[in-house]
Amino acid sequence: MFSNVKKFKDTFYKRLEMLCGKSFDESTARDQYETLGHMIREFVSNDWIATNERYLAITGKQVYYLSIEYLLGKLLRQNLINLGVEALVEEGLRELGIDLNELEELEADAGLGNGGLGRLAACFLDSIASLNLPGHGHGIRYKHGLFEQKIVDGYQVELPEQWLRSGNVWEVRKADLAVKIRFWGKVEAKMEHNRLTFHHLNAETVTAVPYDMPVIGYESKTVNTLRLWNAEPSQFPIHDDILKYKRETEMISELLYPDDTHDEGKILRLKQQYFLVSASLQSILKAYRKQHGKLDQLHEHVCIHINDTHPVLAIPELMRILMDEEGLDWEQAWNITKNTISYTNHTTLSEALEKWPIRIFQPLLPRIYMIVEEINERFCHELWDETPGDWARIAGLAIIADGYVKMAHLAIVGSFSVNGVAKLHTEILKQREMKPFYQIFPEKFNNKTNGIAHRRWLLKANPKLATFLSELIGPSWIRSAEDLSQLMNYQNDTSVLEQLESIKKENKQELAQIILEKTGVSVDSGAIFDVQVKRLHAYKRQLLNILHIMHLYNRIKEDASYSMVPRVFIFGAKASPGYYYAKKIIKLINSAAEIINHDPKVGDRMKVIFLENYRVSLAEKIFPAADVSEQISTASKEASGTGNMKFMINGALTLGTLDGANIEIRELVGDDNIFTFGLTSDEVLHYYQHGGYQSEGYYHHDYRIRQAVDQLVNGFFPGVYNEFEPIFDSLLEENDQYFVLKDFASYADTQLNVGEVFKDSMRWQKMSLANIANAGYFSSDRTIKEYAEDIWKINPL
Ligand SMILES: *Cc1c(COP(=O)(O)O)cnc(C)c1O
Repeated sequence: MFSNVKKFKDTFYKRLEMLCGKSFDESTARDQYETLGHMIREFVSNDWIATNERYLAITGKQVYYLSIEYLLGKLLRQNLINLGVEALVEEGLRELGIDLNELEELEADAGLGNGGLGRLAACFLDSIASLNLPGHGHGIRYKHGLFEQKIVDGYQVELPEQWLRSGNVWEVRKADLAVKIRFWGKVEAKMEHNRLTFHHLNAETVTAVPYDMPVIGYESKTVNTLRLWNAEPSQFPIHDDILKYKRETEMISELLYPDDTHDEGKILRLKQQYFLVSASLQSILKAYRKQHGKLDQLHEHVCIHINDTHPVLAIPELMRILMDEEGLDWEQAWNITKNTISYTNHTTLSEALEKWPIRIFQPLLPRIYMIVEEINERFCHELWDETPGDWARIAGLAIIADGYVKMAHLAIVGSFSVNGVAKLHTEILKQREMKPFYQIFPEKFNNKTNGIAHRRWLLKANPKLATFLSELIGPSWIRSAEDLSQLMNYQNDTSVLEQLESIKKENKQELAQIILEKTGVSVDSGAIFDVQVKRLHAYKRQLLNILHIMHLYNRIKEDASYSMVPRVFIFGAKASPGYYYAKKIIKLINSAAEIINHDPKVGDRMKVIFLENYRVSLAEKIFPAADVSEQISTASKEASGTGNMKFMINGALTLGTLDGANIEIRELVGDDNIFTFGLTSDEVLHYYQHGGYQSEGYYHHDYRIRQAVDQLVNGFFPGVYNEFEPIFDSLLEENDQYFVLKDFASYADTQLNVGEVFKDSMRWQKMSLANIANAGYFSSDRTIKEYAEDIWKINPL
């Protein structure tokens, strides 16, 4: 049906009539979107089935990737690209009078994630399939993804997200593969045939129904599966209050927790975690038993990877199944489990390290708790044997301590691999945060620097640049991103640099149009587009950016002739609904924008834009139009970042701290092709350990800082009395934990330098080219090859 334009059109016509029960002339754009989606599904169905059959037959290893989040975005165009039929479909639709872009608009973003962690999982799925690797994703089919953000009077307002409102053409419900998950109840131990057996009595049962989505590799025969679990009431519940049971059951897959760094102390969240893990393991083991019968060689054929600690209950759940269902003894089960599970750590922020109160954990998951207790006891025993009497050490490393279950400790003890997500992050894990564990298990720790699906973030998001690159160096970079390095041959080719400049200009004009439509503000596409888009967090320091913007505004007001290279400062950020401080920063950015954008004295020298509802589909329009990539987290706080990589591959220059993967960007492009500033992670950690930083001094001695900081509380912002006092206090009373004032001068100087360099457009484009040319390393294809070879031990089919 996709072999030529005529066949496509004929099939499309017939399929539409069959599916929608109306003639083509009466069809709506949504009918057309659904039709195209169905055609794609039918087109891949043979390969999908064949891929699964191959997986049932192979004896080599397979990986199951467990993640509580998948931030997929839209799938239509990416699927067309990966199937190699984008141009044909676009042409066929055009001849039918349909614009593919308009159909694309109708697809809801699958926003089942908060930010970096969920997007990483989505990028990994693309690479696993494109590399023909036997890998399966498992997650939760949240009815509501991450909230939709509106900005009203400068404040964030959250609306429930409704991605399933018009259905999801990509999913297939597999009711026959449903499994049961048990919560609450009591565990009874009995002697049976000379063995202690455990029975879970009076459990409340929830049914997990899988919805499978095809994951289509780039021009490959592999169609992998993302299996998302839906929570439904079990049949014939013996329940006093059936409606309450139904509601509570369905709540499990109702919504994604809109927080990615704070530990949400919610029973429901723990229920979600166990729901994902238990459903996934039952389904994995069912397939495994079909193929291998017994489970005693599981670790030879299966790797289960946990994305952060949210799915860490996979460890005790696997133990439970191996012992209670398979009848293995503890040692055998433990050996299999710890050789099956691998774990990625995503953060060292202490507020993000998950821990669950025993009083919640134990009654909800009684059998699982018993197993965690025993894992803990055995581990503490080993610690005791190493350092008898050192109670402090044992308490510090224990999995259960002070009334809590510490999920990261469980993950490290119960897995064979613990990886960080960038060189610096892994070093901090090994040398500081998890040092005692590193000393016990040095062989487990390894680094896997994050990557991005370059076929989404360059090929799909930036078609103009992608086409130009393919004309220049050939299309091999689409498969092998490292081939982008061939661009370095054109460093001094003025015509190439001019074409890069003009592509960037066109992308900026397109974004300017979006900005005009969404905000009513007209921006000059000749200005520097200086962009900070990411979740709003204190450590990411959007505050440093906006204080510097306020300072620039103050300069202009003091000296009307102040000359600066025109800038458009662009922000996009969602704050967790309960994160009071982050919401204040959003209001501050919008309040500053209101003043600056409407002050005739400023003119075109600067504009401040806050784009609401930052998400994957909006991100795809922003990165190609960026000149400057703001990556200004307090050093040591950002584990890796992936936004930084998306900017880089689209030719934006990084203005960043020596944090996360920024360090590796600098290593690749060289010091001359990046703007770095600020404290190093060692300096930051030194201050945390030894004190010695006083923000007040910077406030008193730097007029620029004092002026901008005072404006938070001196009536500069009309009508928002006291609004920004918490920000003011965080900087002075609370001694500026994120070193915003400390890094201000260095940031402001570097920003001046950015402006100077931009004036020399050929120099800028040459730097931009060096960034694109070196970005191949950050393809998630590279990252996934490393996972496959070093951790998962899986081979391409
Ligand atoms: C890449 C991405 C992120 C992560 O951005 P960072 O700058 O690495 O924090 C968050 N949200 C979306 C929509 C993304 O595409």
